[in-house]
Amino acid sequence: MKKRIIDLSKPSVGDLEFAALKRPLRSGWLTQGSEVESFENEFASSQKVSHAIAVSSATTGLHLALLAIGVKPGDEVLVPSFTWISTANAVLYCGAIPVLVDCDPTTFNLLLEDMLNKVTDKTSAIVVVHLFGLCVDVEALKRALPRPIPIVEDAACAVGAVMKDRSAGSMGDIGVFSFHPRKTLTTGEGGMITTNSDKYSDAVRVLRNHGASPLESSSSDNSHVVQMPKFDHLGFNYRLTDIQAAIGRVQLEKLPMFLAERHELATIYSRRLSNFTNIVVPKIEGDFTHSLQSYVILVNGESTNRDSLSNFLGVNGISTRPGTHAVHTLGYYQSNFGYSDQDLPGALKCATKSLAIPLHNCMSEKDVEYVCHFIELWISKNFS
Ligand SMILES: *Cc1c(COP(=O)(O)O)cnc(C)c1O
Repeated sequence: MKKRIIDLSKPSVGDLEFAALKRPLRSGWLTQGSEVESFENEFASSQKVSHAIAVSSATTGLHLALLAIGVKPGDEVLVPSFTWISTANAVLYCGAIPVLVDCDPTTFNLLLEDMLNKVTDKTSAIVVVHLFGLCVDVEALKRALPRPIPIVEDAACAVGAVMKDRSAGSMGDIGVFSFHPRKTLTTGEGGMITTNSDKYSDAVRVLRNHGASPLESSSSDNSHVVQMPKFDHLGFNYRLTDIQAAIGRVQLEKLPMFLAERHELATIYSRRLSNFTNIVVPKIEGDFTHSLQSYVILVNGESTNRDSLSNFLGVNGISTRPGTHAVHTLGYYQSNFGYSDQDLPGALKCATKSLAIPLHNCMSEKDVEYVCHFIELWISKNFS
């Protein structure tokens, strides 16, 4: 078979994005302005939420979402361990304590039972992560809670993910999306906060812009006098630029196509790889519409198997990497919070046995067939 080079992930950007950049560049308005406002309105209507607020990344969005909910120093916030580190870091930015929850290697998402066991009087928020684009059943979580607790959805991977008729980012109190180039829709760096709450929307708008509250204008003012805004809160500069938003608006138009293409490619993977006992493929059909930000398999047996497969694919031009890490195994969390690897065995298993294989919108069906061929070859060499 002729050798191919297949990237794990690659953003799909082209002439339309290039043309859109001319608007802010010609107008000279480069930071948050009319492009951001249009992007927010278009995103809100596409995700069927009342408010969308653009921010500089999902990480800064998570920080603001937790602050808007009222998370304060000393509070506890429940966070699944198998996620990108910044889900937990955002809790630390608020001075609160991330309480890490175990995860289910069959979904890569939080284990509800373990989460419920860790609710205390100090729990002021829960962050659910719709990892790789598979939604957590937020309704079931709400019903199981001993008391109402605000829920933030880390929907960084989940643009386009749906559970029954609810979009990711519309099921909890606040949702947060990422537009990093590894995600399905990209602006280079960037993020979006979604909410149906006017109160949370107002709060994050103030906090992302240095804490500046809009002035109530008075009609008796001399209209040529520009007043300074009020600054009643400690805010940040977490704004998106109009340059990024112009790209984002084009990407949002392409989103249905991106999702359909990913689904088609993933279906080929699932058809060819689901018959091997050594490999577990993600569930992409049913009540949970997987948005397929990544296609992550679980390689059974010893964790050396995962690394052996990864190496074999790498030799053949195919790039892969672990799904993500388990935050409780990372140095900062072990030395500051006393975690050890075995504390959360499900998350540890996810971290040591998961493998993201190539899936993106610059790939062809032939590329997917090529990857499948080498996975099958590896299985036949090692397990027959
Ligand atoms: C990518 C990702 C983030 C961070 O997103 P940024 O926009 O890079 O800050 C957070 N959480 C999860 C689950 C992610 O996949």
